[in-house]
Amino acid sequence: MSKYIFVVGGVMSGVGKGIATAAMGKILQSRGFRVTAIKIDPYINVDAGTMNPVEHGEVFVTNDGDETDQDVGTYERFFNTTINSVNYMTTGRVYESVIHRERNLEYGGKCVEVVPHVPEEVIRRIKKATAMAKADFTMIEVGGTVGEYQNVLFLEAGRMLRHECPKDVLFVLVSYLPVPPNIGEMKTKPTQHAAQMLNAVGIQPDFIIARGEHAIDEPRRAKISLFCNVEPHAVIAAPDAASVYDVPLMFERQHLSDTILKKLGLKPRTSNLQDWKKLVRVIHHATREVHIAVVGKYFSTGDFVLTDAYISVLESIKHAAWSMKRKPIIHWMNAEEFEKDPAKLKEFSKFDGVLIPGGFGTRGVEGKIKAIEYVRKNRIPYLGLCYGMQLAVVEFARHVLGLRTANTTEIDPKTAHPVIHIMPEQEKLVRASRYGGTMRLGAYPCVLKNGTRTRAAYGARKISERHRHRYEYNNAYRVRLEKAGLIASGTSPDGRLVEIIELKDHPFFVGVQFHPEFQSRPLSPHPLFREFIKASIKK
Ligand code: GLN
Repeated sequence: MSKYIFVVGGVMSGVGKGIATAAMGKILQSRGFRVTAIKIDPYINVDAGTMNPVEHGEVFVTNDGDETDQDVGTYERFFNTTINSVNYMTTGRVYESVIHRERNLEYGGKCVEVVPHVPEEVIRRIKKATAMAKADFTMIEVGGTVGEYQNVLFLEAGRMLRHECPKDVLFVLVSYLPVPPNIGEMKTKPTQHAAQMLNAVGIQPDFIIARGEHAIDEPRRAKISLFCNVEPHAVIAAPDAASVYDVPLMFERQHLSDTILKKLGLKPRTSNLQDWKKLVRVIHHATREVHIAVVGKYFSTGDFVLTDAYISVLESIKHAAWSMKRKPIIHWMNAEEFEKDPAKLKEFSKFDGVLIPGGFGTRGVEGKIKAIEYVRKNRIPYLGLCYGMQLAVVEFARHVLGLRTANTTEIDPKTAHPVIHIMPEQEKLVRASRYGGTMRLGAYPCVLKNGTRTRAAYGARKISERHRHRYEYNNAYRVRLEKAGLIASGTSPDGRLVEIIELKDHPFFVGVQFHPEFQSRPLSPHPLFREFIKASIKK
C-alpha cells in the first residue's frame, strides 16, 4: 500500500519546501522504503521551458525530455534516482488533459466541472507516478503558498485523496517564523494563520516544519502545537543550515521518520545514512579551497543577485570539489561586465577554473567569448556547457582559424561563418512559431573518441546525457577546427552531431553540447566536473 505525503508552504514562498520535501523523502529512503516525489507548479504554463530563468530559476530537464522545475533536480540529487515527466504537473498540463478527455467523450456525457474533475485528474497523475516508481512513499510538493487562489485545486486533490484513504495520507506545512529585528522575538502568528487557512480548505496538517533563521524554542513549539492542533513532537525545528545536505540529518535528530512511520501505522526500521553523514562531515570540515568562476547573465532582479538559474551547475561543482575534500568557492561573474571593461578579464587569473553554463540570446555573449579567449590563452581550466561549448567554438574559429566574423546563427543569422547553426528540424519548428517543449530535449546517446580526455574521464565509450538546445556545431568547419587542435571528442552514434569538443594542448578545455549538471549526485559527482575540478586544483 502506497503512502502519500503532501508538502505545502505557509506564510511566504522560498522557505525551502523543495529541500524539506527531498529531505523527508531521503530519511524514509534511508529506512529502506522506495520513495519518489512529485512537483506541482500552479502556473498555467504547460512546462517551465517557456519562462525566463530570472523569473523562474533553472529549467531542470528530465531524462525523458520534460522541462521541469529545479525542485525535481533536488529530488534526483537527494534520492539518487531518475525522476520522469509523470512526476511533474502544472495547472496548464492538468487542464489540457481534462479538456482532451472531454473532447474524446471520456466523461460519458456528464457536465465536466472544475470540481471534482480537475482534482480527480491530479489524483490520477499522483497514482500513476506512484505506480511507475513502485513507490512505498510519494512525496507531493504543492507549489505556492496556502491561501492563494492558484493552488487551491491541488490542495483539494490532497483533501480528496485523504478522504479516499485516510490512513495513507499525511500533510506537512512548511512555514516561516520571522524574528523581526525591532521585536527580537520569534513570531508564531503568521504560521497560526497559515494553519487556519489550511483548515479552511478542509486540511489539518500532521506536521509543521518551522523554518527560520533560528531553531524554534520550547515555548513557541508549545504555542504552535496548541493553536495549530499538531502534537509538539510533530513541530520540527528547521533553522537555516550551512548546507542543504544537512537537512535530512537535522530531521532525523528530531526523529521525524520515526514519527511519520508511527502516524501511518508502519513498523519502525533502522536507518542507514552513513555515507550521507560522511559527506556532510566533508562539507563542514574541508578547509582547502578551490575557486571556480561561473560566467553568466541570469543574476540580477532589481537590487538582488539570484543564482537559482544555475542551481544544478552550482551543485555539480560542489559535489566534485567535496569528493576531493575541497571547499568550493564560487565566484559569480556577470558576462556583460567584460564587454564594458575588458581590463576586468585579468580577474580570471585569480581563479582555479572557469565555467560557462547554458544560455540563450545576445546579451552577454561577447563578454563570454572574451572570457573564453582569456582562459584558452592563459591555460586556465575551462568547462563549457551547451552555450558555453558553442561559444568556445565561435571563439576558436575567430581567433585561431582567423574567421573574424564567425558566429552562431542564433546571434547573427547572416554571418559569413556560421560555425554554430540551427538544426534543420528546429528551423521548421521555429518558423512555425512552435516553441513550447520543442527543443532537442532529454537524454541522447553519445559515442566518445578513444584517446581523448573526455573518453578517459568517463571511463566508457558510450554515454547518455541530457540536452536542451536548438543550435549545433556546423560540420562544414570540422576538418579545419580539428586540424587546428579543437578535437570533436564525442558525437551522436551516427556521427552527425558533434556533442563534445576539447583542446589538445591545454590543461583542461572541454565543451559539451549537453547538460552534465543534471546527472551529478552528491555521492557520485559527474566525471566531467570531477576532472574539471581536478585540473583546477592542479592549477
Ligand atoms: N542557445 C543555445 C541553443 O539553443 C544553447 C542552449 C543552452 O545553452 N541550453 O542551442
